Amino acid sequence: MKAPPYRIFLSPPFLTGAETAAMNAVMDSNWLAPVGPALTTFEEDLCRYTKAPHAVALQSGSAALHLSMVLLGVGPGDEVFVSTYTHNATVNCIIYQGAKPVFIDANPGSWNLDITILEAALEERAARKKLPKAIIVVHLYGNPVDMDRVMALAKSYKIPVVEDAAEALGSTLNGQALGTFGDLGVLSFNGNKIITTTGGGALLTSNAEMAKKALFLATQARDEAPYFQHSTIGYNYRLSNLLAAFGSAQLTKIDDFIAKRQLNFQLYSFFFKRMEEELGYPVVQAQYLIDGASSNHWLSCFVFHFPSLAEQVIAALEKAGIEARYTWKPMHLQPVFESYEFIGVGVADHLFESGVCLPSGFQLTHLEHHEICTIIKKVLLENL
Ligand SMILES: *Cc1c(COP(=O)(O)O)cnc(C)c1O
Repeated sequence: MKAPPYRIFLSPPFLTGAETAAMNAVMDSNWLAPVGPALTTFEEDLCRYTKAPHAVALQSGSAALHLSMVLLGVGPGDEVFVSTYTHNATVNCIIYQGAKPVFIDANPGSWNLDITILEAALEERAARKKLPKAIIVVHLYGNPVDMDRVMALAKSYKIPVVEDAAEALGSTLNGQALGTFGDLGVLSFNGNKIITTTGGGALLTSNAEMAKKALFLATQARDEAPYFQHSTIGYNYRLSNLLAAFGSAQLTKIDDFIAKRQLNFQLYSFFFKRMEEELGYPVVQAQYLIDGASSNHWLSCFVFHFPSLAEQVIAALEKAGIEARYTWKPMHLQPVFESYEFIGVGVADHLFESGVCLPSGFQLTHLEHHEICTIIKKVLLENL
């Protein structure tokens, strides 16, 4: 598929200017193989920023998710409860291990996994003595899941929790970084995320044993021997030293990145509020934040109260060279996952049909924001 010639992208990366010097320093040091000191520094930076006791930098968020399943011993015959309203990588990691995802519907307010449904599903499985091996929750578009409730539930059934915080670096719940509540937390540094290493990810944990094992598995599972000896299957998942330097440079600007993304969201929210005042009725709904939550607002997403508006808004923006997108298509609606169980009533289906993600980049200008809102306004006035 050829990319349309966008002028304004959904979530483009932003170079701080420090990346080139950081990477040049690594090249001058010749620490290109094997892994080197910049990688350790990046992991320390991540620990400092998130207050996670351990961080293991990897080649992608997908690799971090896969390792999380390996570390928790998820295997053939196991079930893993997972939010349906997410990126496909959240689910692929379960399939890689030969296990079965059970999709949990979204909450209409937060758009995150519905904890009341999760609770009922766990109760039902407990009665059948068939509890899931793990639970994966996703902080969708940076919006914090109620981790206190999830962890209390998971503890009562002794089920480990993986937090997919790929979109949520910099979001907090009662001041605590997302990705540090669960047994394992996953970050992504893909090109479109809050910070980037062009491609990369990390696994966060407070468990030293787990961190050590993650490191071992991510570097081909080499036994302690003077030659290449292996007693278990490993992976080549470690982030390169060069890209780690890139990541550290990006991380120095994360507060600015987040402030701008939050501002983007506020400006869109003001615009929709003015539209609603003009029209006299509600037009859109955004994600509700639970008490104590702060979202990085990685993407500015809104669900329209009227059918077909999402499609028309995306098309009108596209015509002007502006990239807007549908929200994630729920996993239980994906052809590749249609044989797996879904527990819910179709809330995620509705959010997907009526939702849009608007341009949310750090470099979005006031003028561009105005242009985007003018186009949306035209679509609304023609259709409402
Ligand atoms: C981006 C993303 C991933 C995958 O991360 P990569 O680094 O692209 O592999 C996983 N989960 C969610 C929710 C994401 O948005």
